[in-house]
Amino acid sequence: LKRKYLDESSERRRLYNEVIELKGNIRVFCRCRPLNESGSASVINFDSSSDNELQVICTDSSKKQYKFDHVFGPEDNQEAVFQQTKPIVTSVLDGYNVCIFAYGQTGTGKTFTMEGTPEQRGVNYRTLEELFRITEERHGTMKYELSVSMLEVYNEKIRDLLVENSTQPTKKLEIKQAADGTQEVPGLVEARVYGTEDVWEMLKTGNRVRSVGSTCANELSSRSHCLLRVTVMGENLINGQRTRSHLWLVDLAGSERVGKTEAEGERLKESQFINKSLSALGDVISALASKSGHIPYRNSKLTHMLQSSLGGDCKTLMFVQVSPSATDLGETLCSLNFATRVRGIEGGPARKQV
Ligand code: ADP
Repeated sequence: LKRKYLDESSERRRLYNEVIELKGNIRVFCRCRPLNESGSASVINFDSSSDNELQVICTDSSKKQYKFDHVFGPEDNQEAVFQQTKPIVTSVLDGYNVCIFAYGQTGTGKTFTMEGTPEQRGVNYRTLEELFRITEERHGTMKYELSVSMLEVYNEKIRDLLVENSTQPTKKLEIKQAADGTQEVPGLVEARVYGTEDVWEMLKTGNRVRSVGSTCANELSSRSHCLLRVTVMGENLINGQRTRSHLWLVDLAGSERVGKTEAEGERLKESQFINKSLSALGDVISALASKSGHIPYRNSKLTHMLQSSLGGDCKTLMFVQVSPSATDLGETLCSLNFATRVRGIEGGPARKQV
């Protein structure tokens, strides 16, 4: 058993260090959803000989080329997306903190990628399924406890999505610094999960709570960030070492700019909060990459809460979701430019060995 463990962990360490040396800790994947408006033309071309480039045809017929760590076209299914995501998410079992974000205009498939549908499950469910499979495989050498929290950030307020009783006034949740310097949200429900059935139930509860109190659930959900946090407590049964790590799976609020005429009252306030937090996220990642002395985590609830899981040897993956439709061209270019800024950045050197 010990031999098997040592072989396995040295192979993981070798692969991990090889990847980090090549690419750093920050990855950006682009995913383009299928065309859904009949009659609308696609403005995105994919190069069949490359899996990491795409071309956008602008209104003046000029072409803009973009390059990411991976590009998924409309034909790529949930399994294909997960295969590329798997090595990143499963590293939470080796003690790494990991953050995955889905960024993009509303309607481009952020929720489809993260959550999916019962027939085409997304990254969230597939990840938990894979984590359970690996914990089973490592049985005897490692002992794991997995728990899940689900929360929403709307207008800079945190709401626990696993607190079902909607008639009770919601408890005010705030971010606090724990004794070890990490960020915590005291009072947030952390539900132990023992298998995929538990996870599925949990996700259903979260979605139910999320939609309560809103007249138009889809509208509201596109204006809030939805975060699923998986906490992994690991114990190495060979050397007694214990780890606690977090995996954050984040479906961000829609990145679209709101037209001047639309932006009034509540809607204006919401869009200001969304803009602020999405640009804070971009700023934090840029600052980490340029190794700036000051990382502006505290400019938004989102980045403040994720502080301990962004930077250093944490792993970050951003899905930039786009629409191929000509009518969305402006937003598509904005999203691709934002993601390019994020990708321009190299992660710091690996400090922690697996
Ligand atoms: P967002 O979360 O960005 O607002 P959604 O995930 O709700 O977008 O996607 C909008 C619609 O498009 C949904 O009906 C979704 O099922 C569909 N969709 C998005 N991406 C894909 C895809 N890659 N393949 C098939 N359908 C998709």
